[in-house]
Amino acid sequence: MTPTLESLVARAIDLGLQSSLATPRAAALLASKSHSPESAALIQESQRMTADYKACLKEIEAITPRQYTALRNQIVDQVRRAMKKQPGMRKWRCPVCNFLFDEKIGLPRQKIPPSTNFQELADGWECPECDGSKEQFVLDRD
Ligand SMILES: [Zn+2]
Repeated sequence: MTPTLESLVARAIDLGLQSSLATPRAAALLASKSHSPESAALIQESQRMTADYKACLKEIEAITPRQYTALRNQIVDQVRRAMKKQPGMRKWRCPVCNFLFDEKIGLPRQKIPPSTNFQELADGWECPECDGSKEQFVLDRD
């Protein structure tokens, strides 16, 4: 059975997201020169997902070479949007002063490390700009 273009595009978006999530972890493990079986498996998994993603893009290109560039841009854009919604990659806005807490960056001046989930911040945490409460922060939509 030949997969439909629609299902291939959906699959590419999914694989692109999985691979984008796994790649930084694998790169960090490679850099740390950790040789545990778990890290080897994670690195392998990340490489496999990236290979699957590329193979899926090739399938799309084979089916519809003329539309390929537009579809690929659409897939990359969707993956980027999905990435922004992942825990550790989101942004939260203070509705009072518009201060933006970027999970990817954390808050170095408060020693909050990068990739910190907003939910993991202490309950008493307040907006560093206006002392507004944590509860009033809203997920930034873009
Ligand atoms: Zn504020």
